Amino acid sequence: MTKHIFVTGGVVSSLGKGLTSASIGMLLEQRGLRVRLQKLDPYINVDPGTMSPYQHGEVYVLDDGSETDLDLGHYERFTSGKLTRDCNYTAGQIYLSVIEKERKGQFLGKTVQVIPHITNEIKSVIKRMGGDNVDVVITEIGGTVGDIESLPFLEAIRQFSLDVGRDNCLYMHLTLVPYLKAADELKTKPTQHSVGQLRAIGIQPDVLVCRCEHSISRDDREKIALFCNVPTEAVIEEKDKDFSIYEVPLSLVDNKLDELIVEKLGLVTAQSLDITPWTDLLHGLRNPRHEISIAVVGKYAEHKDAYKSIYEAIDHAGMHHQTQIRIGRIQSADIEREGAERLLSGYHGILVPGGFGERGIEGKVQAIRFARERKIPFFGICLGMQCAVIEYGRQVVGLDRAHSSEFDKDTEHPVICLLDEQQNVTQMGGTMRLGSQPTVLDKDSIAGQSYETENIDERHRHRYEFNNQYRQQFEANGMRFSGTSPNGCLVEIVEIPDHPWFVAVQFHPEFKSKPLNPHPLFIGFVAAAVERHSDRKSSEQSAPTPQPR
Ligand code: GLN
Repeated sequence: MTKHIFVTGGVVSSLGKGLTSASIGMLLEQRGLRVRLQKLDPYINVDPGTMSPYQHGEVYVLDDGSETDLDLGHYERFTSGKLTRDCNYTAGQIYLSVIEKERKGQFLGKTVQVIPHITNEIKSVIKRMGGDNVDVVITEIGGTVGDIESLPFLEAIRQFSLDVGRDNCLYMHLTLVPYLKAADELKTKPTQHSVGQLRAIGIQPDVLVCRCEHSISRDDREKIALFCNVPTEAVIEEKDKDFSIYEVPLSLVDNKLDELIVEKLGLVTAQSLDITPWTDLLHGLRNPRHEISIAVVGKYAEHKDAYKSIYEAIDHAGMHHQTQIRIGRIQSADIEREGAERLLSGYHGILVPGGFGERGIEGKVQAIRFARERKIPFFGICLGMQCAVIEYGRQVVGLDRAHSSEFDKDTEHPVICLLDEQQNVTQMGGTMRLGSQPTVLDKDSIAGQSYETENIDERHRHRYEFNNQYRQQFEANGMRFSGTSPNGCLVEIVEIPDHPWFVAVQFHPEFKSKPLNPHPLFIGFVAAAVERHSDRKSSEQSAPTPQPR
């Protein structure tokens, strides 16, 4: 029988429920259990696909093409289970499905209500995750306890234990234990209130995971336990990690959370824990052999979650090369004002990520020109590839004012144009070219050598593509098309052979990078940046020391 863990959050948002859920998933997997993770988001949007990165951070795309919450990125990076559309539901999707059923007359004229119709729908999407080959389903409820919009979700998970048995459910509440400097004390009251709200709804949490900046004393844990009606050993400390998010699972192990879960849910098939690969990983991270800096030039650079998977994928490759990487988040619009030279000099690699909308496009193009001309390793992703094509078209192929028809409908040289399949699309949500698609690589290109295979599958999310009318002209001027769709029609990867490392891809490799299995293109990009760093260091060393006149 599948067991269920429900993760809720209290006091404030952004406590890292996703990371904690993913870490628990990883620990249970390392104990030999088959785990699935799911996120239920209480907002009304049908999916995050149409939401601004400023509002919601990155949109994480799965193999099946669903556009999901960025927490699913944590789930995939920490665990090995396959994620599908069923792993992320929003209130909007739940309501849409209930309303569609109502329109079809499926409720036989009954009054359709939050309880039981919406809550039944929520319970059914949770049940769907379980099954014969799943030991544990971890369901994270987005938002914070106390929000009006979370209520149907909390009511549904309360009822869920009546359906499957209280012993088969574990309620975990993530809360904040703040430190008040003036009083020099940790404060437990917000946690008491938050648990109080849960209990008023009818949910008694089994485990409290307490986020804190300072260690929680035994006395404070006992106090929290007493007021919140949980055993002291179920008050788990989760201290802030300023070093790496990959420390989170290890600190949960120190606090014996995995043992507690196994015991409380009676997971008799659980084996003993082996986290050696993760401790090795952190050892590499703590003992770097090189230190480099990489600039990520994007429109939403000031929002720390907008390119989450890109930053993670860079870190994974850094761990692989035992290299500490300082990431400079550069606003592309700032490059337009201040120039690439001023903002990008000193970086050992430049990455331009995906995006939408015209603002900052010229800054990206300038950054790419700088990387190409100064022979700085360059990695373009999705819109980053499209901008690389625009830059090459303008500067090398000689196509004056070449552009993407996304930004200039009347451009004389639309080197990037709308995909055929997109011509008649009018609805915005879920209608891009989405999800896993095959690409065939040139064996002896940088891409071919990095992947060490000719056939790959990568995730996509775009409406525009390289315009094939310009293919010959670009090739004649030195651009290499090293990856295409199997029928050769869609350009998936471009490279510049006369450059140390210039690779730009139409897909999103960052979504498939994992700490224990970094992505081959990110490995190659970081290796090239490390090489540039070493070359520069040795040329600095061999340069004569300037003599005073
Ligand atoms: N805006 C571009 C397109 O739709 C790029 C999309 C992206 O970078 N994800 O094709």
